[in-house]
Amino acid sequence: MGWTTLWEPRDAPGRSSVIRSPEEGMVLWCYCATGTGTPLLGQVCPRRQRTAMARRRCQLCGSSIDRDAKVVFIAGESEGTAAQLVREPPLHAACAAYAARVCPYLVVGSRAGALRVAEALSYQLFEERVRPSGLDPQADMLREVFPLGSSAAPRFGALENLMAVPAGTWVPFAAWFTDLAPSGSQG
Ligand SMILES: [Zn+2]
Ligand SMILES: [Zn+2]
Repeated sequence: MGWTTLWEPRDAPGRSSVIRSPEEGMVLWCYCATGTGTPLLGQVCPRRQRTAMARRRCQLCGSSIDRDAKVVFIAGESEGTAAQLVREPPLHAACAAYAARVCPYLVVGSRAGALRVAEALSYQLFEERVRPSGLDPQADMLREVFPLGSSAAPRFGALENLMAVPAGTWVPFAAWFTDLAPSGSQG
């Protein structure tokens, strides 16, 4: 499991709620804590998801990725409203290679069949905003993606995830995996 994995608290009635954060405005806040309760493999904590995207932290190990190092995105085929948008936070190149070798499920849930990979020095951020589709706040949420800092975004709803557009080319997972150097030979 990775740093952004969602944990199911033992006895909390609500895992998340909409709050006003001084840094982010109206956000979907998540109260889960790493190591408390049960890890929900393949599910992502929205709070750590945003931190990873905004602060260039690796979704697997949680530490930051150097500005002059490439980040790696691994995504499903149909994420986001546009083909290039990705919701899964970045990875260190070494962490991506490790996860790909050991178990793709660690980072990509159950979508291992149709994956693609992008390596990039930088990426552009977008906001995924949500609001309840009806009176029941537990019911399905409407969601829409806005450019980061868009004034229309807060009017639509709370910030749930940050999405990225890598400044790089998407390639099929299988092609990227084939090109990986053999384990242990990377510096
Ligand atoms: Zn959480
Ligand atoms: Zn890492």
